[in-house]
Amino acid sequence: MSPPDFSDVLAAAARLEGVAHRTPVLTSRTADALTGARLYFKCENLQRGGAFKFRGAYNAIAALPEARRRAGVVAFSSGNHAQAMAYAASLLGVPAVIVMPSDAPASKVAATKGYGGEVVHYDRYTEDREAIGRRIAAERGSTLIPPYDHRDVIAGQGTAARELIEEVGELDVLLSCLGGGGLTAGSVLAAEAMAPRCAVWGVEPEAGDDGRRSLAEGRIVHIEVPRTLADGAQTQHLGELTFAILKRRAAGVVVVSDAALVSAMRFFAERMKLVVEPTGALAAAAAFTGAVPVAGLRVGVLISGGNVDLARYAALLQAH
Ligand SMILES: *Cc1c(COP(=O)(O)O)cnc(C)c1O
Repeated sequence: MSPPDFSDVLAAAARLEGVAHRTPVLTSRTADALTGARLYFKCENLQRGGAFKFRGAYNAIAALPEARRRAGVVAFSSGNHAQAMAYAASLLGVPAVIVMPSDAPASKVAATKGYGGEVVHYDRYTEDREAIGRRIAAERGSTLIPPYDHRDVIAGQGTAARELIEEVGELDVLLSCLGGGGLTAGSVLAAEAMAPRCAVWGVEPEAGDDGRRSLAEGRIVHIEVPRTLADGAQTQHLGELTFAILKRRAAGVVVVSDAALVSAMRFFAERMKLVVEPTGALAAAAAFTGAVPVAGLRVGVLISGGNVDLARYAALLQAH
């Protein structure tokens, strides 16, 4: 598979028109005063399914030819990609199998089933979810859609940055939450075409700095599952396609601490009345902590998701 380009982002935008929410872009005088920047927050926590993942999932399923759609799709993930796949598949009338760990939170299993997804459990300590996903796809003739390393997934994720730049104009900096790199790679495609002077940064948790190391070493670095509150960024490595795009054009990758994520989440709750999940606060935390210098600049900040169990959310905001 060759990496997607901006024309793929435009094709994705056409497929998502009237289906995905055009999420709001919010500003905050307090955030601007704290950073000395002009910050534009793109609120994908308010996207359908509560995260930008809906964009890539829907685009990837909608791009399949009719015959392959009928045979269904398979996803392996316990997080936002799984829910987005189940949701998007149900809207398109496509059967979806979601491979989830047997100890996945009951709320996530229920949400996936609620969207009509068929849940297949596996033991996360003894079984390989990718192998299970591939086996199911082979048995049923269905299509495996991975969470980030896929042309149409990357192109779909790029539509968020495309909308942001279309709405606010040229940016100096664009900050993106980084796990496997789908959102950041898609953002690079949008920015290089629409705002060529814009520096696109990926932001990952301190405990899982494989993206930063990969760019520094010029190869895809693999790590153990990182211990971080940012469960959507507990990826162990970038993808082939996402790495190729980031290497070519991203300004770089920076890291932030879990404490900085919680403090950004608290800022969003108190000042902007936004519920943001820990992973969704990565990009903002880079602006607030100065991990990426932003003073005097026009800065896009992707808030990537808002799916957090309320009890956990309350406990996090209280404890720090
Ligand atoms: C998946 C996810 C990410 C990371 O996205 P990648 O495309 O894997 O880099 C960031 N934030 C949220 C909320 C997510 O669900």
